[in-house]
Amino acid sequence: MVLKSPTNRLDSSVLQNKCRGRLTPHIFFQEGSRLVSQMAAPLLLLSAMLSTLPMVLCFPSPYMDHDHHDPNRTSASIRFLVVGDWGGLPNPPYMTPIEKATAHEMGKAAKHMGADFILAVGDNFYYRGVNSVRDPRFQETFERVFTAESLEHTPWYVIAGNHDHLGNVEAQIEYSRHSKRWNFRYYYYDLHFRVPHSDATLTILMLDTILLCGNSHDYLDERPRGASDSLMANQQLQWLAKQLETSRADFLLVAGHYPVWSVSDHGPTECLLDNVRPLLLKYNATAYLCGHDHNLQYLEESGVGYVVSGAGNFLDNSMKHKKSVPAHSLKFFYGQQSSLGGFAHVEVTKKDMTITFIQARGKSLYRTVLPRRTAP
Ligand SMILES: [Zn+2]
Repeated sequence: MVLKSPTNRLDSSVLQNKCRGRLTPHIFFQEGSRLVSQMAAPLLLLSAMLSTLPMVLCFPSPYMDHDHHDPNRTSASIRFLVVGDWGGLPNPPYMTPIEKATAHEMGKAAKHMGADFILAVGDNFYYRGVNSVRDPRFQETFERVFTAESLEHTPWYVIAGNHDHLGNVEAQIEYSRHSKRWNFRYYYYDLHFRVPHSDATLTILMLDTILLCGNSHDYLDERPRGASDSLMANQQLQWLAKQLETSRADFLLVAGHYPVWSVSDHGPTECLLDNVRPLLLKYNATAYLCGHDHNLQYLEESGVGYVVSGAGNFLDNSMKHKKSVPAHSLKFFYGQQSSLGGFAHVEVTKKDMTITFIQARGKSLYRTVLPRRTAP
């Protein structure tokens, strides 16, 4: 089945594919040079004009303003929550006490600190994703759990984790047409926001790290075994490089399920260290957000922030890979079972980005501030 993006949403990956296909300058020049001997200068000029078309057509998705939720909004910031590995259970009650408590606290954080949207960084449905767009798990593990009034109209921007890839990810993408909150446009996609009452912008590039690096088995401590479709992996990587290269955003985030750096059970993901980390550094990304390890972590390395927020359903206190990250890069770690889970709250103003880690019993655990970036 060929996946089609919902027609009411702009799919930048489709645009990018178009950009790599018939509309590339390269092809135009080839056609131009074949004809130039017969028709000479006017066509050369036409060909040069046409070659600028792709630049016009390769525009990113439009900016989204979330002010419409609150016409009286005065806050000059974008606020959002990051939650990972929140995917409940395949048997009744289809949720864990940790997921329930985390959902409850997310509702409180959205009410008191504000949340324009939620970033769900994968492992949305344990243990084998969903079967179809009519799978009852969408109700049992998502709609009926995140029920706080403050979350009722809050959009979720979703990517898949390794457990989702054991089921039907296309059904999760399709569910975007059936839920007023669920937004999962394609395996990977871009999000652009404007900070209210300012000229500052935020871009979030949502990745499918399972398509990039391969699936893995959580309980055998298996490392991702390599992309099953190397063409698709390369396409995604090229897309990411292009997005980062051309971004002028003041805050530039990349989100994926697997961690780049992590001190816990799974540790750093070699494939992301090799392929994604160099891009984050080269293009001066603000931070990388992920889940996969079931705890909350903050690391900082070479000027990039690394957020692990994978405490939405299970908790793991292991620091097994403490020595696998650069010295002094770990700033915060939390995986206490008694805390009943947690998530991150992010606030972006025109000046800076504040990340607060919150546990499900309502306690703010750690806060850090990252500066507005300058595009290289
Ligand atoms: Zn995972």
